[in-house]
Amino acid sequence: MGFDEMDVDTIWQDGSFVDWDDATVHVLTHGLHYGSGVFEGVRCYDTENGPALFRWEEHLDRFFESTKPYDMELPYSREELTQATLELVRREELESCYIRPVAFYGYGSLGVSPKDNPVNVAIAAWPWGTYLGEAALEEGVEVMISSWRKHASSQIPTNAKTTGLYVNSMLAGEEARRNGYTEAIVLNKEGNVAEGPGENIFLVRDGEIYTPGLAQSILDGITRNTVIELARERGYTVHDQATISRGELNTADELFFSGTAAEVTPIRKVDNVEIGNGSRGPVTEELQQAFFDLVERRNDDHDEWFTYV
Ligand code: PMP
Repeated sequence: MGFDEMDVDTIWQDGSFVDWDDATVHVLTHGLHYGSGVFEGVRCYDTENGPALFRWEEHLDRFFESTKPYDMELPYSREELTQATLELVRREELESCYIRPVAFYGYGSLGVSPKDNPVNVAIAAWPWGTYLGEAALEEGVEVMISSWRKHASSQIPTNAKTTGLYVNSMLAGEEARRNGYTEAIVLNKEGNVAEGPGENIFLVRDGEIYTPGLAQSILDGITRNTVIELARERGYTVHDQATISRGELNTADELFFSGTAAEVTPIRKVDNVEIGNGSRGPVTEELQQAFFDLVERRNDDHDEWFTYV
């Protein structure tokens, strides 16, 4: 659904709430030219106890950490950003939504050095359903291995959620969709499995769970961390620093993506080769169920992960 069809009126921009249509920037904004911004994607779930931000504190941690390599000082505190977000969700009377905080070097000069530019910050929120399609959660998605490799963490910090990084995600995702797939899997420079364009990846084999570690040039996903915890609590052995070769994707019993947008999405085929029996596997289903039970607060587990609106 495009923004024009949505009924959200306000965006928080640089300290105040402005009309959606007025939340604009100058065309000579540094971040627009050089991708010098950092951002977050957070979900607010319509839980049994009312709307709640899921793992907001961890998203804020990552937001602040993402600024570090870029010497970017956010002009707002954690508390200010939290209050702004809660107020935005309340004002718009959103029940479940996606929240997008973004900070970027703004308008001032266009040398590559950002030092003369202000740091601008905005937070928007809007309703956003299943990222990879309604059917994806149950049936799984068909993905292709992208011919684009993920940038190595020696080239650009892949653990920072930087706006400029996402041209790589766009290339990989669009290549996949152009070829009739829903999403891509991106290999790292060494040719091992890194992640999806906007998702982490998990592999199940012989009842154990594997996911690439940070050394594989991945983003340290908060959903990844959630899935690891849920799996361990259910007695699974989780190898969270795995090196997964391309061929191991084909011989996996199950594969699935995790991410704020993608949540827990099974992968049923890779490059047209069926994974397992070609449908959502039992471990994926169990963890997916555990995930949705958690985020919709159908149980009391991990209440510390929720910030109620
Ligand atoms: N990898 C990449 C490249 C991403 O953009 C995302 C989405 N933020 C993820 C993994 C998943 O991270 P999270 O679970 O924190 O949303």
